[in-house]
Amino acid sequence: MISVEEAIEIVRDNTSYLPTERIPLDEALGRVLAEPVSADMDLPPFDRAQMDGYAVRSEDVQQVPARLKVVGEAAAGHAWTGVLGEGQAVRIMTGAPVPPGADSVQKVEVTREQDSTVEIHESTTTGQFIVPRASEILAGSRVLAQGETIRPASMAVLAAFGYSTIAVFRRPIVSVLATGSELVAVDQTPGLAQIRDSNSYSIGACAELAGAIVHRLPFAGDDPELLEQQIAAAAENSDVVILSGGVSMGVYDFTKTALRDLGATIFFERVSLRPGKPTVFAKLGETLIFGLPGNPVSVSVTFNLFARPGIRFLQGSSEPPFKTAYSVLKRRAKGTIERASYLPARVFTNEEGQLCSEPLKWGGSSDFVSFVRATALIIVPEGTSHLDEESIVRTVLLPESMG
Ligand code: AMP
Ligand code: MG
Repeated sequence: MISVEEAIEIVRDNTSYLPTERIPLDEALGRVLAEPVSADMDLPPFDRAQMDGYAVRSEDVQQVPARLKVVGEAAAGHAWTGVLGEGQAVRIMTGAPVPPGADSVQKVEVTREQDSTVEIHESTTTGQFIVPRASEILAGSRVLAQGETIRPASMAVLAAFGYSTIAVFRRPIVSVLATGSELVAVDQTPGLAQIRDSNSYSIGACAELAGAIVHRLPFAGDDPELLEQQIAAAAENSDVVILSGGVSMGVYDFTKTALRDLGATIFFERVSLRPGKPTVFAKLGETLIFGLPGNPVSVSVTFNLFARPGIRFLQGSSEPPFKTAYSVLKRRAKGTIERASYLPARVFTNEEGQLCSEPLKWGGSSDFVSFVRATALIIVPEGTSHLDEESIVRTVLLPESMG
């Protein structure tokens, strides 16, 4: 059986970037950059005053109090265009360009102006209260890389350097297909042996959060022929198809049979993982197909470990497949000798500033109500029967807990 890491590598190796498109900056939040972003100007674009006060020559104010002639004013958006000479000062506001000739700014609090003359009560040093031109960014330098996700702070960077439009990778279309004759829609009352479909909603939500455009398809039931038709139709119209259920060894588990009959390439169908062992990854043409086990917690775990990275790779994202951290385990966690366990947990920081994790008390992979509290998955490696309280444990941080 392949490991989780190997499975993710296989997904990556079989995923190519979607085409790019140029979109208005207004629509760019959350998208992945398809081009590097460079500064088209220096920042600051001029020597900028950091204080309200007076631009002066430091040599004129070595003896204080010094009396200087106020020859003009510079405010944000309004430069003083002369050259400052000996014995002169320019009244200046924060953010305004420091005029040539001046080498420092003295703050207004230690000055007194009267009749176009200013008395400076404290001397200055060269460069005082001036942010020099290009000290933050030099024109032409690379400020964002291809593959980065556009966040609110990146929006400011794009705007500042004139990117009114930006090249990004197309959002993948993800079709969600729940299998199982026991399923009824959310607005129905389940009869005997029936349950409401919840997986389509968790998968759809996770996929949307990962940047996808989601189509929730009608249930496939457990009819092999219908399932085949639905997978084929979904694959034709989407970049990714995510199925839930029907991948175990039961008599009515037809997902893999349907994929084989359609001629899909199956890359893996079992991962050394608990929960989520029977996860399937396949391709039909260029469409990625994930067959996730039906149990709702297995769905969430396997989506985050395999399908989410796939959806991110398609969008050209250069981020790691998921975020990990090390946490201090606050309750003993049971593993499985034959498989790695990725157990739902809650993370928090304690008063010593440590990241801590507490495995959820849960009733197994069908207990999706307990899973609502999960913000992380703690990893108990293969071959480890348990991890003691206070052990340091590798922890996957779930994206929905990171805002
Ligand atoms: P399966 O892998 O098809 O045998 O399903 C495993 C378990 O997950 C069964 O108890 C199913 O009833 C449950 N299950 C399957 N699909 C869904 C779904 N869409 N929503 C909620 N539970 C499901
Ligand atoms: Mg089923």
